[in-house]
Amino acid sequence: MRRLPLEQYIEGVLGGDRVILAQAITVVESDLPSDAELAARILDRLLPYSGNSMRVGITGVPGAGKSTFIDALGMLLINEYGENLAVLSIDPSSPVSGGSILGDKTRMERLAAAERAFIRPSPSRGHLGGVARRTRETMLLCEAAGYRNIFVETVGVGQSETAVRSMTDFFLLLMLAGAGDELQGMKRGIIEMLDGMTITKADGDNKPKAERARAEYEYALHLFPASADGWSPPVLTCSSVTGEGLAEVWRMILDHRRLVEGKGFLAERRSRQALEWMNELLLIGIEDSFRNDPKVAERLPQLREEVRRGSVTPFAASRDLLRLYRIS
Ligand code: GDP
Repeated sequence: MRRLPLEQYIEGVLGGDRVILAQAITVVESDLPSDAELAARILDRLLPYSGNSMRVGITGVPGAGKSTFIDALGMLLINEYGENLAVLSIDPSSPVSGGSILGDKTRMERLAAAERAFIRPSPSRGHLGGVARRTRETMLLCEAAGYRNIFVETVGVGQSETAVRSMTDFFLLLMLAGAGDELQGMKRGIIEMLDGMTITKADGDNKPKAERARAEYEYALHLFPASADGWSPPVLTCSSVTGEGLAEVWRMILDHRRLVEGKGFLAERRSRQALEWMNELLLIGIEDSFRNDPKVAERLPQLREEVRRGSVTPFAASRDLLRLYRIS
Protein backbone atom coordinates (compact mmCIF):
# COMPACT_ATOMS: atom_id res chain seq x y z
CA MET A 1 0.00 0.00 0.00
CA ARG A 2 1.18 3.51 -0.78
CA ARG A 3 2.16 5.53 2.28
CA LEU A 4 0.88 9.06 2.90
CA PRO A 5 2.82 11.98 4.35
CA LEU A 6 2.74 11.97 8.17
CA GLU A 7 0.46 15.02 8.40
CA GLN A 8 -2.23 13.34 6.39
CA TYR A 9 -2.40 10.44 8.83
CA ILE A 10 -2.52 12.82 11.79
CA GLU A 11 -5.20 15.06 10.35
CA GLY A 12 -7.21 12.13 9.03
CA VAL A 13 -7.21 10.23 12.31
CA LEU A 14 -7.95 13.30 14.43
CA GLY A 15 -10.75 14.18 12.01
CA GLY A 16 -12.26 10.74 12.52
CA ASP A 17 -11.71 9.67 8.91
CA ARG A 18 -12.23 5.90 9.02
CA VAL A 19 -10.34 5.17 5.83
CA ILE A 20 -7.26 7.03 7.03
CA LEU A 21 -7.62 5.47 10.48
CA ALA A 22 -7.55 2.00 8.90
CA GLN A 23 -4.50 2.97 6.85
CA ALA A 24 -2.71 4.36 9.90
CA ILE A 25 -3.40 1.09 11.73
CA THR A 26 -1.91 -0.81 8.80
CA VAL A 27 1.28 1.24 9.16
CA VAL A 28 1.40 0.59 12.90
CA GLU A 29 0.79 -3.14 12.39
CA SER A 30 3.36 -3.40 9.63
CA ASP A 31 6.45 -5.55 9.98
CA LEU A 32 8.29 -3.65 7.26
CA PRO A 33 11.40 -1.95 8.62
CA SER A 34 10.61 0.97 6.29
CA ASP A 35 7.34 1.57 8.19
CA ALA A 36 8.84 1.54 11.68
CA GLU A 37 9.82 5.21 11.73
CA LEU A 38 6.50 6.40 10.31
CA ALA A 39 4.60 4.21 12.78
CA ALA A 40 6.55 5.63 15.71
CA ARG A 41 5.87 9.20 14.58
CA ILE A 42 2.17 8.57 14.09
CA LEU A 43 1.95 7.11 17.58
CA ASP A 44 3.97 9.89 19.17
CA ARG A 45 1.83 12.56 17.61
CA LEU A 46 -1.46 10.89 18.48
CA LEU A 47 -0.64 9.74 21.99
CA PRO A 48 -1.70 13.07 23.58
CA TYR A 49 -5.18 12.59 22.09
CA SER A 50 -5.62 9.05 23.41
CA GLY A 51 -6.81 7.68 26.73
CA ASN A 52 -10.25 9.17 26.65
CA SER A 53 -12.37 6.06 26.35
CA MET A 54 -13.99 3.22 28.20
CA ARG A 55 -11.69 0.29 27.53
CA VAL A 56 -13.58 -2.94 27.98
CA GLY A 57 -12.01 -6.39 27.62
CA ILE A 58 -14.36 -9.25 26.76
CA THR A 59 -13.50 -12.92 26.88
CA GLY A 60 -15.23 -16.29 26.78
CA VAL A 61 -14.85 -19.70 25.17
CA PRO A 62 -15.73 -20.12 21.49
CA GLY A 63 -19.51 -20.28 21.27
CA ALA A 64 -20.03 -18.33 24.50
CA GLY A 65 -21.73 -15.67 22.42
CA LYS A 66 -19.05 -12.98 22.28
CA SER A 67 -19.69 -11.68 18.79
CA THR A 68 -23.47 -11.72 19.19
CA PHE A 69 -23.10 -9.94 22.54
CA ILE A 70 -20.76 -7.28 21.20
CA ASP A 71 -23.05 -6.73 18.23
CA ALA A 72 -26.10 -6.33 20.48
CA LEU A 73 -24.43 -4.24 23.20
CA GLY A 74 -22.70 -2.11 20.58
CA MET A 75 -25.98 -1.37 18.83
CA LEU A 76 -27.56 -0.49 22.18
CA LEU A 77 -24.75 1.98 22.87
CA ILE A 78 -25.12 3.53 19.45
CA ASN A 79 -28.89 3.68 19.27
CA GLU A 80 -29.90 4.31 22.88
CA TYR A 81 -26.97 6.16 24.36
CA GLY A 82 -25.66 8.01 21.32
CA GLU A 83 -22.22 6.45 21.74
CA ASN A 84 -19.68 5.18 19.26
CA LEU A 85 -17.28 2.28 19.59
CA ALA A 86 -14.32 0.47 18.14
CA VAL A 87 -14.07 -3.31 18.39
CA LEU A 88 -10.63 -4.88 18.31
CA SER A 89 -9.71 -8.48 18.81
CA ILE A 90 -6.76 -10.54 19.86
CA ASP A 91 -6.92 -13.95 18.28
CA PRO A 92 -4.17 -16.03 19.83
CA SER A 93 -4.65 -18.83 17.33
CA SER A 94 -3.83 -17.08 14.10
CA PRO A 95 -0.13 -16.45 14.69
CA VAL A 96 0.39 -20.06 15.64
CA SER A 97 -1.75 -22.08 13.30
CA GLY A 98 -2.60 -19.62 10.59
CA GLY A 99 -6.20 -20.51 11.37
CA SER A 100 -8.48 -18.59 13.66
CA ILE A 101 -10.47 -19.47 16.74
CA LEU A 102 -12.49 -16.30 16.58
CA GLY A 103 -13.59 -17.42 13.15
CA ASP A 104 -13.59 -16.02 9.69
CA LYS A 105 -17.36 -15.94 9.44
CA THR A 106 -18.92 -12.54 9.25
CA ARG A 107 -19.20 -11.54 12.85
CA MET A 108 -21.10 -8.59 14.30
CA GLU A 109 -23.17 -7.95 11.23
CA ARG A 110 -25.10 -4.95 12.45
CA LEU A 111 -22.05 -3.23 13.88
CA ALA A 112 -20.12 -3.90 10.69
CA ALA A 113 -22.71 -1.82 8.85
CA ALA A 114 -23.04 0.88 11.51
CA GLU A 115 -21.45 4.20 10.82
CA ARG A 116 -20.54 4.82 14.44
CA ALA A 117 -18.72 1.52 14.86
CA PHE A 118 -15.24 0.63 13.71
CA ILE A 119 -14.24 -3.03 13.65
CA ARG A 120 -10.69 -4.18 13.27
CA PRO A 121 -9.81 -7.88 13.36
CA SER A 122 -6.79 -9.27 15.14
CA PRO A 123 -3.40 -8.63 13.56
CA SER A 124 -2.55 -11.94 11.99
CA ARG A 125 1.20 -12.09 12.18
CA GLY A 126 3.68 -12.52 14.98
CA HIS A 127 3.58 -14.12 18.41
CA LEU A 128 1.13 -13.10 21.09
CA GLY A 129 3.38 -10.38 22.51
CA GLY A 130 3.58 -8.74 19.11
CA VAL A 131 -0.14 -9.09 18.43
CA ALA A 132 -0.98 -7.59 21.82
CA ARG A 133 1.40 -4.71 21.28
CA ARG A 134 -0.23 -3.87 17.98
CA THR A 135 -3.70 -4.10 19.41
CA ARG A 136 -2.73 -1.74 22.18
CA GLU A 137 -1.37 0.75 19.69
CA THR A 138 -4.46 0.37 17.51
CA MET A 139 -6.53 1.20 20.58
CA LEU A 140 -4.64 4.48 20.99
CA LEU A 141 -5.26 5.38 17.36
CA CYS A 142 -8.98 4.62 17.72
CA GLU A 143 -9.14 6.85 20.80
CA ALA A 144 -7.41 9.65 18.93
CA ALA A 145 -10.00 9.18 16.17
CA GLY A 146 -12.72 9.92 18.74
CA TYR A 147 -14.02 6.46 19.66
CA ARG A 148 -15.32 6.75 23.18
CA ASN A 149 -15.66 3.04 23.82
CA ILE A 150 -13.14 0.39 22.89
CA PHE A 151 -14.04 -3.28 23.17
CA VAL A 152 -11.12 -5.67 23.01
CA GLU A 153 -12.25 -9.22 22.53
CA THR A 154 -10.36 -12.47 22.94
CA VAL A 155 -10.94 -16.19 23.25
CA GLY A 156 -10.62 -17.80 26.64
CA VAL A 157 -7.17 -19.29 26.44
CA GLY A 158 -4.98 -18.00 29.26
CA GLN A 159 -2.22 -15.82 27.88
CA SER A 160 -4.32 -13.71 25.55
CA GLU A 161 -6.66 -12.92 28.44
CA THR A 162 -3.81 -11.59 30.48
CA ALA A 163 -2.85 -9.42 27.53
CA VAL A 164 -6.38 -8.03 27.17
CA ARG A 165 -6.73 -7.50 30.90
CA SER A 166 -3.51 -5.51 30.87
CA MET A 167 -4.84 -2.99 28.35
CA THR A 168 -8.41 -2.48 29.54
CA ASP A 169 -10.28 -0.78 32.39
CA PHE A 170 -12.94 -3.43 32.80
CA PHE A 171 -12.52 -7.11 32.14
CA LEU A 172 -15.71 -9.06 31.44
CA LEU A 173 -16.06 -12.83 31.22
CA LEU A 174 -18.98 -14.26 29.24
CA MET A 175 -20.10 -17.69 30.39
CA LEU A 176 -22.49 -20.30 29.10
CA ALA A 177 -24.78 -21.91 31.65
CA GLY A 178 -23.97 -25.54 32.34
CA ALA A 179 -21.37 -26.23 29.66
CA GLY A 180 -18.80 -27.80 31.97
CA ASP A 181 -17.10 -25.26 34.12
CA GLU A 182 -13.64 -26.70 33.86
CA LEU A 183 -13.87 -26.11 30.11
CA GLN A 184 -14.78 -22.52 30.62
CA GLY A 185 -11.52 -21.37 32.08
CA MET A 186 -12.86 -20.95 35.59
CA LYS A 187 -9.32 -21.11 36.80
CA ARG A 188 -8.29 -19.14 39.78
CA GLY A 189 -6.04 -16.97 37.62
CA ILE A 190 -8.96 -15.89 35.45
CA ILE A 191 -11.27 -15.23 38.35
CA GLU A 192 -8.73 -12.95 39.91
CA MET A 193 -8.60 -10.91 36.72
CA LEU A 194 -12.34 -10.37 36.43
CA ASP A 195 -14.26 -7.17 36.98
CA GLY A 196 -17.56 -8.77 36.06
CA MET A 197 -19.18 -11.89 34.69
CA THR A 198 -22.25 -12.36 32.53
CA ILE A 199 -24.11 -15.59 31.79
CA THR A 200 -25.12 -15.40 28.14
CA LYS A 201 -28.12 -16.77 26.23
CA ALA A 202 -30.54 -16.23 29.13
CA ASP A 203 -33.62 -16.66 26.97
CA GLY A 204 -36.29 -19.30 26.24
CA ASP A 205 -35.73 -22.67 27.88
CA ASN A 206 -32.25 -21.67 28.86
CA LYS A 207 -33.37 -18.86 31.14
CA PRO A 208 -33.86 -20.81 34.40
CA LYS A 209 -30.54 -22.57 33.85
CA ALA A 210 -28.82 -19.24 33.33
CA GLU A 211 -30.36 -17.89 36.54
CA ARG A 212 -29.14 -20.90 38.50
CA ALA A 213 -25.67 -20.55 37.05
CA ARG A 214 -25.69 -16.88 37.97
CA ALA A 215 -26.44 -17.66 41.62
CA GLU A 216 -23.75 -20.34 41.72
CA TYR A 217 -21.07 -18.16 40.21
CA GLU A 218 -22.04 -15.26 42.40
CA TYR A 219 -21.52 -17.47 45.42
CA ALA A 220 -18.19 -18.76 44.05
CA LEU A 221 -16.92 -15.24 43.36
CA HIS A 222 -17.81 -14.06 46.83
CA LEU A 223 -15.32 -16.52 48.24
CA PHE A 224 -12.59 -14.41 46.71
CA PRO A 225 -11.39 -11.33 48.55
CA ALA A 226 -12.58 -7.98 47.19
CA SER A 227 -9.98 -6.00 45.30
CA ALA A 228 -8.24 -2.98 46.81
CA ASP A 229 -10.65 -0.54 45.19
CA GLY A 230 -13.56 -2.18 47.01
CA TRP A 231 -15.19 -3.53 43.86
CA SER A 232 -16.44 -7.09 43.90
CA PRO A 233 -17.22 -8.52 40.47
CA PRO A 234 -20.98 -8.83 39.91
CA VAL A 235 -22.51 -11.76 38.04
CA LEU A 236 -25.36 -10.92 35.65
CA THR A 237 -27.37 -12.67 32.98
CA CYS A 238 -28.30 -11.39 29.55
CA SER A 239 -29.68 -12.38 26.20
CA SER A 240 -28.17 -10.87 23.09
CA VAL A 241 -31.20 -12.12 21.15
CA THR A 242 -34.01 -10.55 23.23
CA GLY A 243 -31.76 -7.76 24.52
CA GLU A 244 -32.79 -8.49 28.12
CA GLY A 245 -30.06 -7.68 30.63
CA LEU A 246 -27.80 -5.80 28.21
CA ALA A 247 -28.54 -2.39 29.71
CA GLU A 248 -27.70 -3.83 33.15
CA VAL A 249 -24.37 -5.10 31.87
CA TRP A 250 -23.54 -1.63 30.63
CA ARG A 251 -24.69 -0.09 33.89
CA MET A 252 -22.31 -2.43 35.75
CA ILE A 253 -19.45 -1.18 33.60
CA LEU A 254 -20.43 2.44 34.21
CA ASP A 255 -20.79 1.83 37.97
CA HIS A 256 -17.33 0.36 38.05
CA ARG A 257 -16.01 3.33 36.11
CA ARG A 258 -17.54 5.79 38.53
CA LEU A 259 -16.05 3.96 41.50
CA VAL A 260 -12.52 3.61 40.17
CA GLU A 261 -12.40 7.03 38.61
CA GLY A 262 -13.58 8.73 41.75
CA LYS A 263 -10.99 7.19 43.99
CA GLY A 264 -8.07 7.47 41.58
CA PHE A 265 -7.92 3.73 40.99
CA LEU A 266 -8.44 4.09 37.25
CA ALA A 267 -5.41 6.34 36.89
CA GLU A 268 -3.48 3.91 39.04
CA ARG A 269 -4.54 0.92 36.93
CA ARG A 270 -3.55 2.69 33.75
CA SER A 271 -0.20 3.80 35.19
CA ARG A 272 0.50 0.24 36.21
CA GLN A 273 -0.43 -0.93 32.72
CA ALA A 274 1.82 1.68 31.15
CA LEU A 275 4.75 0.41 33.22
CA GLU A 276 3.97 -3.20 32.32
CA TRP A 277 3.79 -2.16 28.71
CA MET A 278 7.13 -0.43 28.88
CA ASN A 279 8.67 -3.54 30.41
CA GLU A 280 7.18 -5.70 27.70
CA LEU A 281 8.47 -3.44 24.94
CA LEU A 282 11.88 -3.48 26.56
CA LEU A 283 11.91 -7.26 26.67
CA ILE A 284 10.79 -7.49 23.04
CA GLY A 285 13.48 -4.96 22.08
CA ILE A 286 16.20 -6.77 24.01
CA GLU A 287 15.22 -10.10 22.53
CA ASP A 288 15.26 -8.67 19.00
CA SER A 289 18.59 -7.04 19.56
CA PHE A 290 19.98 -10.28 21.02
CA ARG A 291 18.78 -12.39 18.12
CA ASN A 292 20.03 -9.90 15.57
CA ASP A 293 23.49 -9.72 17.12
CA PRO A 294 25.94 -11.13 14.55
CA LYS A 295 28.17 -12.85 17.12
CA VAL A 296 25.18 -14.47 18.77
CA ALA A 297 23.69 -15.50 15.44
CA GLU A 298 26.97 -17.10 14.45
CA ARG A 299 27.40 -19.05 17.67
CA LEU A 300 23.79 -19.99 18.37
CA PRO A 301 23.26 -22.91 15.96
CA GLN A 302 26.31 -24.77 17.19
CA LEU A 303 25.51 -24.23 20.85
CA ARG A 304 21.95 -25.39 20.31
CA GLU A 305 23.23 -28.58 18.80
CA GLU A 306 25.62 -29.11 21.69
CA VAL A 307 22.91 -28.53 24.25
CA ARG A 308 20.63 -30.90 22.38
CA ARG A 309 23.30 -33.59 22.41
CA GLY A 310 24.03 -32.97 26.05
CA SER A 311 27.68 -32.00 25.58
CA VAL A 312 27.09 -28.49 26.95
CA THR A 313 24.69 -27.56 29.75
CA PRO A 314 21.92 -25.04 29.00
CA PHE A 315 23.35 -22.84 31.72
CA ALA A 316 26.85 -22.78 30.22
CA ALA A 317 25.45 -22.20 26.73
CA SER A 318 23.28 -19.27 27.77
CA ARG A 319 26.13 -17.73 29.75
CA ASP A 320 28.38 -18.06 26.75
CA LEU A 321 25.83 -16.37 24.47
CA LEU A 322 25.16 -13.56 26.90
CA ARG A 323 28.87 -12.90 27.24
CA LEU A 324 29.21 -12.71 23.44
CA TYR A 325 26.25 -10.34 23.33
CA ARG A 326 27.62 -8.04 26.04
CA ILE A 327 31.02 -7.60 24.46
CA SER A 328 29.68 -6.88 21.00
P1 GDP B 1 -18.56 -16.55 19.97
O1 GDP B 1 -17.87 -17.71 19.37
O2 GDP B 1 -18.28 -16.46 21.44
O3 GDP B 1 -18.34 -15.25 19.25
O4 GDP B 1 -20.14 -16.87 19.90
P2 GDP B 1 -21.25 -16.37 18.87
O5 GDP B 1 -21.64 -14.97 19.17
O6 GDP B 1 -20.83 -16.68 17.48
O7 GDP B 1 -22.49 -17.26 19.29
C1 GDP B 1 -22.46 -18.68 19.22
C2 GDP B 1 -23.86 -19.18 18.93
O8 GDP B 1 -24.74 -18.84 19.99
C3 GDP B 1 -24.47 -18.57 17.67
O9 GDP B 1 -25.18 -19.57 16.99
C4 GDP B 1 -25.41 -17.51 18.21
O10 GDP B 1 -26.52 -17.30 17.36
C5 GDP B 1 -25.85 -18.11 19.53
N1 GDP B 1 -26.19 -17.05 20.50
C6 GDP B 1 -25.38 -16.00 20.84
N2 GDP B 1 -25.98 -15.23 21.76
C7 GDP B 1 -27.21 -15.78 22.01
C8 GDP B 1 -28.28 -15.45 22.89
O11 GDP B 1 -28.27 -14.45 23.63
N3 GDP B 1 -29.36 -16.27 22.88
C9 GDP B 1 -29.42 -17.38 22.09
N4 GDP B 1 -30.52 -18.13 22.17
N5 GDP B 1 -28.43 -17.73 21.25
C10 GDP B 1 -27.33 -16.95 21.20
